[in-house]
Amino acid sequence: MVSALSHLECSTCGKHFDARRLQTFCPTCQAPLLARYELRKVARELRPETVSGRPRGIWRWAELLPVQREEYRLTLGEGDTPTLKLERLGHTLGLENLFLKDESINPTGTFKARGLVMAVSRARELKARALVIPTAGNAGGALAAYAARAGMEAHVFMPADAPQANQQEVQMYGADLRLVQGLISDAGRLAAQEAQRSGWFDVSTFKEPYRLEGKKTMGFEIAEFFGWDVPDVILYPTGGGTGLVGIWKAFEELEALGWIGKKRPRMVGVQAQGCAPIVKAFEAKAREAEFWPDAATFASGLRVPFPFAHRLILQVIYQSGGMAVAVSDEEMLQAQRELGSLEGIFAAPEGAATLAALRRLLQQGWIAPKERILLLNTGSGVKYI
Ligand SMILES: *Cc1c(COP(=O)(O)O)cnc(C)c1O
Ligand SMILES: [Zn+2]
Repeated sequence: MVSALSHLECSTCGKHFDARRLQTFCPTCQAPLLARYELRKVARELRPETVSGRPRGIWRWAELLPVQREEYRLTLGEGDTPTLKLERLGHTLGLENLFLKDESINPTGTFKARGLVMAVSRARELKARALVIPTAGNAGGALAAYAARAGMEAHVFMPADAPQANQQEVQMYGADLRLVQGLISDAGRLAAQEAQRSGWFDVSTFKEPYRLEGKKTMGFEIAEFFGWDVPDVILYPTGGGTGLVGIWKAFEELEALGWIGKKRPRMVGVQAQGCAPIVKAFEAKAREAEFWPDAATFASGLRVPFPFAHRLILQVIYQSGGMAVAVSDEEMLQAQRELGSLEGIFAAPEGAATLAALRRLLQQGWIAPKERILLLNTGSGVKYI
């Protein structure tokens, strides 16, 4: 189980960067770096059955992940979350093939664990000393947990009105919590300043290459679950876009390995009406998003007024023949009640937003009743109490 990581590549200009050193993003393009692997070698040496037979967890994909040495692979038991068939909810919507991948059972209660376990593991391997993160809430909790596990210093910049659970977990994990008057974008600016001044490594979404690699394991698990195939439609709550872009990257890598075919799902980016920069850009058929002023929604994970990876997110949506949809907080709350009362799932509002969006797209006829539909519940509703 040796990582086949070869280099990093700018997602805009294609320039290569050395993956053996700590890297951030392409300074010329202000764009994310993507991890690239020797996929031909992996295709020769690895079989899908081998990966499926390994002990559960994200590290069973080690060849396709960036960490080189086993002793740096942190874990709290993340990944291999259940994909549940939603029979009762499907019935009320007239759907036969409705599924939900439930990320709420990850350590720290959200899928942020997948990204941060990877970023922290790799940063430690590359000798980073202290880490800093701006967060809408959940990413801060996940960073703090893995930093504690790794014995590293962590600094978390979070809006003062972020959920209580997020503030408390960060403190419980022993990290340095800095409450910021403003949004994640303001937290981002402060975190970057402090990173410069103090020599901390900034693990903001897409401003280092490896949170994406952790989140991409969702795509591997999805393809494996569907028998090395993909569903017809995936609905994904989109804040920073790491999940959406990560799932897409996973499918590209699996196709290069010959483990899945050319077919791709239509990717739906779901946002909140009070903060929908990607939806606005999509509706204008634009390739870039613009800063969304006065962002407001109780789905804190979606309160990202200007995602750094906006071009990549839009690319994935367009390439997949997908869509971007905004739903109201009211609709999210209603969808949370439905998932809870019909299926026993207490979803995060962001996860429930995908159900609200599904309802809309069914009404519009954009999704047909026979299609295989996958909702992503990215976190537990308990974190918002
Ligand atoms: C961060 C977060 C999101 C948004 O995820 P991205 O991959 O950054 O788009 C969605 N749901 C929850 C619960 C989150 O914490
Ligand atoms: Zn570049």
